[in-house]
Amino acid sequence: MKKFGWVFCVLIVCTALAGLFLKNSNKNGYEKTEFLFDTPCTVTAYGKDAKIAVEAVFERLAEIHKVTDAFSETSDVARINSAESGEEIFVCQDVADILSRAETVTVDSRGAFDVTVASVSALWNFSGEGRVPQKEEIEKALDLVGRDIFDGKNVVKKALSDEKIDLGGAAKGFGGDAALEVLRGYDVSGAIVDLGGNICCMGTNPKTENGMWRIGVQKPFSPTGEFDEVVEISEGSVVTSGTYQRYFEKDKKLYHHIIDPKTGYPADRDYSSVTIVTEEGSCCYADCLATACFVLGREDGEALAEKYGAKIIFK
Ligand code: AMP
Ligand code: MG
Repeated sequence: MKKFGWVFCVLIVCTALAGLFLKNSNKNGYEKTEFLFDTPCTVTAYGKDAKIAVEAVFERLAEIHKVTDAFSETSDVARINSAESGEEIFVCQDVADILSRAETVTVDSRGAFDVTVASVSALWNFSGEGRVPQKEEIEKALDLVGRDIFDGKNVVKKALSDEKIDLGGAAKGFGGDAALEVLRGYDVSGAIVDLGGNICCMGTNPKTENGMWRIGVQKPFSPTGEFDEVVEISEGSVVTSGTYQRYFEKDKKLYHHIIDPKTGYPADRDYSSVTIVTEEGSCCYADCLATACFVLGREDGEALAEKYGAKIIFK
């Protein structure tokens, strides 16, 4: 009987230690970073399936990247951009979904967000060294902006061959939604997805007492990426569009990548970033809204965010 008691005690201690170990390994989770959508993308998941779930998320993100990447000749975006006028381009369901969400925000923002702004933004060459286009070039390209090219299903048709689209303001958010969808199919207790400033999360954060996710809002142009505000959410998205994310300087003037489709110039505002916080709803909408609200300005930006039930932070 005495011997049995010892075995019992050892078993309890072992079980407790195993429990502690498992709890700690759950707490550390599984994290992976890859460069997609022209930006570092990090996914961290916790729970039994954390590793396979994160790997599956990256497979899905690579799929979306492949069809939205304007620099790959075979992407749907490149096929649209190189199409002749009147040619019918059939796009995959992911691109069709991004286009229809983008279109909703185009209508709601009265054109402040518009994927056809690409004809103008291409002139600025933000993905290269950057250049300030001539006024005449901008005026000519503006004629190609704001045109209706999507049939709302799976077909894109341009009236003029030179019309172009750019999904840079929406694809990362769509990737966030797709990532959460994949994660929900696994035994994952919580996860956070960061696609270049587009952050979305689900489940419980094992690193906080209350299980909430704490997301820092970056201080614009901070060389160390310092945060000056922290947003706490249980689930949802925190998406930032900022001038500091992509810009160049010429003659002591800063030119950034968020273009006002009405003028063809970088939106000139008294803030450097807009953060959209949504506890419900899609990360893709939050992505489009952050860009749209940046262009719209404080008053109209606040009204648009409110329409989508989102909180807005200007920095
Ligand atoms: P984001 O990274 O979400 O802040 O969006 C900025 C990116 O969206 C830019 O790098 C461009 O690719 C694209 N973009 C810039 N201005 C606009 C706009 N007014 N509407 C839609 N897309 C835009
Ligand atoms: Mg955006």
